[in-house]
Amino acid sequence: MTTYHIWTVGCQMNKADSERLASGFEQLGLSECDDPRGADVVVLNTCVVRQSSEDRATGLLGDLKKAKDIYPERRIAVMGCMVGPNSEELNRRFPQVDAWARPQQFRPILEMAGEAIGIDPDGCIQELLPADPKVSTFIPIIHGCDKFCSFCIIPYRRGREVSRSVEELVHETEMLVSRGVREVTLLGQNVDSYGHGLDPAHDLADLLYAINEVSGLDRIRFLTSHPSDMSEKIIRAVGELPKVCENINLPFQAGDDVILERMRRGYTRDEYLRKIDEVRTIIPDIAMVTDVIVGFSGETEEQFANTLDILTQVRFDKVHSAAYSVRPGTIAARQHPDTVSIEEKKCRLVELNELQETICTEINAGLADREFDVLIDGYSRGRFTGRTRTDKLVHLENSETLETRIGGFASVRITETTPWSLQGKVTAAEMLAAGDRLRVYPA
Ligand code: SF4
Repeated sequence: MTTYHIWTVGCQMNKADSERLASGFEQLGLSECDDPRGADVVVLNTCVVRQSSEDRATGLLGDLKKAKDIYPERRIAVMGCMVGPNSEELNRRFPQVDAWARPQQFRPILEMAGEAIGIDPDGCIQELLPADPKVSTFIPIIHGCDKFCSFCIIPYRRGREVSRSVEELVHETEMLVSRGVREVTLLGQNVDSYGHGLDPAHDLADLLYAINEVSGLDRIRFLTSHPSDMSEKIIRAVGELPKVCENINLPFQAGDDVILERMRRGYTRDEYLRKIDEVRTIIPDIAMVTDVIVGFSGETEEQFANTLDILTQVRFDKVHSAAYSVRPGTIAARQHPDTVSIEEKKCRLVELNELQETICTEINAGLADREFDVLIDGYSRGRFTGRTRTDKLVHLENSETLETRIGGFASVRITETTPWSLQGKVTAAEMLAAGDRLRVYPA
């Protein structure tokens, strides 16, 4: 038994969990295998926000069962949101699975793998941190959600909010920085709710101040926010702290008060718009991102028009849009019939995305000829790519001629813009010291 594969779907929280679990497997002496059907230990890190994601996981479990029938020594584990507080029903449906683990519960899986290879995980596993993290890395800071929006299954699967301590998170950030990380994104289903229940009491602003002090770290981001929990203190911290980037993801989900109430979002459209004003007054050059659902139960044309109106008024830098689909087990599934047809939802989604494309085109066109600091975090099709502080994707034109590397910063003058990305010329690039643990491309 020498190899593992982690199959991951869903949000950044799952990706962060998978990186940490991989670190545990590596410490057990297992190495990564690209093929889930060929690995000795396979973990499916699942998402249930959409039925289609859950269906993909159950389909793969069927394939893995066939492989396990031939190679019974193989081990299969499932973690993430598919695993609720009670796994009895799952055990009955999927007897081929050896271990079930809720999000962030690595122990049952590591114990299963340790037992299979005859090693006690307690004896050899230290911190579960990626050994070779990406230059921009996720750090989960709060697990679960207490909000219970009517369309969302997350609180039932991830449980109530639990925050990690400031000390633990500062230490983790220091460790990641020592491994080459320059940017961290602090994650939570409702990240603004961080710190509730901690003793002594802390909030997200306190954590941002503490992490801002970590030497060697250059940038801090956080997501996802909730309009009701984004306090003035948090907004001021974003405005004041040099390492915290001017980029906030503040979902509004719907622009009509009746729909918002049906969604149990806890704010009105006016309150949302006032929050946006507050953010922009304190941080004028902020880039705003949002999430929207179209076609929620009973949404009329007029109510949908109110959603489009919010887009027009706020002019977000990015919108994550989705057509409503019912999740069994949610309040909406029980109380609000899914009355908008699929065709209508698709039409509304197209209309909304076209409007947003126009807005993004205009916003990005206004960035031409301006110069930005870009953290280089990728290489594709012969060019380096990176992100501005406002999280704009930038393709670098002339980076080959400079000492530009993943993990380095460059000053970039924007030469071309599209709705979705920018292109620019490197005017100056950070010279990285010899021996820096940074990847050089082409390898
Ligand atoms: S805030 Fe609402 S949508 Fe977000 S995770 Fe919590 S319940 Fe789900």
